Amino acid sequence: MDPEVIAEYQKKYPEVFSIIEGVLERFPELDRFIKSQGAVKTEIDAQAKQVLETVAKDMKPYRDTYEVHRDLPKEGVAHATVLKELKEMQKAERKKWKDGYVSGAVYHGDDEHIGFMNEAYTLHSQSNPLHSDLWPSASKFEAEIISMTAGMLAGDAPAEVRANLCGSVSSGGTESILLAMKTYRDMARAERGVRNPEMVLPTTAHVAFHKAAQYFNIKMRLVPFDENFRADLRAVKNAINGNTVVVVGSAPAFPHGIVDPIEEMSELARKKGVPFHTDTCLGGFILPWAKKLGYNVPRFDFSLPGVTSISVDTHKYGYAAKGTSVILYRNEKIRHHQFFTATSWPGGMYFSPTFAGSRPGGLSAACWAALVSVGEKGYLEAAKKILSTADYIKGEIRKMPELELLGDPFYVLAFASATLDIYKVMEQMTHKGYSLNGLHRPACVHIALTLRHTEPGVKERFVEDLKAAVAYVKAHPSEKGSAAPIYGLAATLPVRSVVGDLLKTYMDAYYKV
Ligand SMILES: *Cc1c(COP(=O)(O)O)cnc(C)c1O
Repeated sequence: MDPEVIAEYQKKYPEVFSIIEGVLERFPELDRFIKSQGAVKTEIDAQAKQVLETVAKDMKPYRDTYEVHRDLPKEGVAHATVLKELKEMQKAERKKWKDGYVSGAVYHGDDEHIGFMNEAYTLHSQSNPLHSDLWPSASKFEAEIISMTAGMLAGDAPAEVRANLCGSVSSGGTESILLAMKTYRDMARAERGVRNPEMVLPTTAHVAFHKAAQYFNIKMRLVPFDENFRADLRAVKNAINGNTVVVVGSAPAFPHGIVDPIEEMSELARKKGVPFHTDTCLGGFILPWAKKLGYNVPRFDFSLPGVTSISVDTHKYGYAAKGTSVILYRNEKIRHHQFFTATSWPGGMYFSPTFAGSRPGGLSAACWAALVSVGEKGYLEAAKKILSTADYIKGEIRKMPELELLGDPFYVLAFASATLDIYKVMEQMTHKGYSLNGLHRPACVHIALTLRHTEPGVKERFVEDLKAAVAYVKAHPSEKGSAAPIYGLAATLPVRSVVGDLLKTYMDAYYKV
């Protein structure tokens, strides 16, 4: 059957498809059988091949420009030559993110700030927190990073709650989330004897939770979102059981930028004696300041008694260099389930708080430098600029009859269309130099606004370009896009696992020299 026809059916009969989906998940042989069926397979293979060819070419633009090093050079290349190539590539890739064409990715990006981060890193580039005897500065930096973020996310929690907050510096949001999920799996096993761990999370929670489920053998109980794109509370309540090791909510969630009803969700968990994790990787450095600025921010932090951990990304709106994040816990007793120790290894007494062994102390130094140099006033002013830019763009999108802004977001704005193929709109934006995020279920596109978009003229240009993209797609309804078929393909049920395979091939392509 033609994947487009299947997609059509899926739209018409979503209940039937969700049943089939469940069946296929339970019986992978059946999934494999359907996949192997002639017509579907040929169609997919053809599409997949075409997609891959385009993607592979885009991924390796330097193949013909620079020497390709398949093996170590016989003799080392001169520093000047190496630096020249590095500089040229940096320059070629700079304009797009620098000039505000990109969703998220680079959150600060001013030259002066980048230079300052680089200097902090350079000074401590040899530091390794694994050897804290050699670099006691690393312990100072990391302890203070944790303390400063905990203070920011304590809300109006009483002093005794604040005093117990603790955490770890990790390599990014994903690691913070993986650490928390491992911690709760082990804690539930130790304290409640849970052998078949489950986590309850909204479908909008970051995919890093799915990764944690896969890595640590935790069963996911996914709950849907309501008409406002917030986790459905009844479904959350029904999903919690004796095997639940943690309930998860986002402030805000990545897809539509909406904050879950954390207060209610964390209470449901607390009443059943289950921990609750707030993922505020995206919001931790904006929401506390948005609240101070008078925005109506729902509660999400440690002022809620049920919230037992929070992930917050210093390398996003904390404006640190890429490679740091913080996982915070309500007390050290919880954190102990995260720590690794080995007392009988011939290599000596060993302990390590996070997944890595050796770690880049320079990144912690730069992160610390970002936090102390920006300070409360800096974060407040940055949040103010980003939120007012968002207010302008939200207002303009709401005026466009072809587009629909999803929910009531703060600064990550997702929009869909009832009349146009939104992926074709995204593609027109790509032609204009943009890099926006294509999302599905439902089909929409989002932009995460950063300080780059607060530069003069950027928000107006975005709105003008978006209007032009919409007008173009409206005027050329039958033109086939290249992104639209990929999402169409991903939406067609029998081929979902084929799409998974396709993504693996994409990663193979990434690692080809
Ligand atoms: C970015 C993000 C993450 C994961 O962060 P990485 O730093 O990319 O690993 C987790 N949750 C949310 C809500 C995010 O936006």
